[in-house]
Amino acid sequence: MSQSDCIFCRIVRGEIPCAQIYADDHVLSFLDIGPVNRGHALIVPGEHHRTVLDMPARLGEHIIAAQQRVGRAIMEATGAEGLNIFQNNFATAGQVVFHVHWHLVPRFPGDGHELWPQG
Ligand code: 5GP
Repeated sequence: MSQSDCIFCRIVRGEIPCAQIYADDHVLSFLDIGPVNRGHALIVPGEHHRTVLDMPARLGEHIIAAQQRVGRAIMEATGAEGLNIFQNNFATAGQVVFHVHWHLVPRFPGDGHELWPQG
């Protein structure tokens, strides 16, 4: 399940480069091209689903496992003391790329970013 015109499907297929952090049979994680904070990462399922509402629940376990692995890794790499994990569904909620994905944003004391909601 992959779409020719979807930017994240193209990254998953290796057609567009990314700064990859983690990959397994179900998910890919890479740095966001427009980070809102140092170490801002994305996790995307390999399968194309538009939003979390039409994603099969069976993928949830793999997404959570990747959030734990990637979350720990980016906190360690950046020295962050906190971590926001969030995602946007539909344009009205700030979704820009219509391939479901999770944002992992390291947080630092006093970083002052207003990160919720995105978009
Ligand atoms: P959304 O608003 O849909 O939740 O977030 C989409 C995110 O994808 C944005 O933070 C944006 O910076 C990121 N993004 C869009 N295109 C690319 C790309 O080609 N490469 C990477 N690494 N990130 C992208």
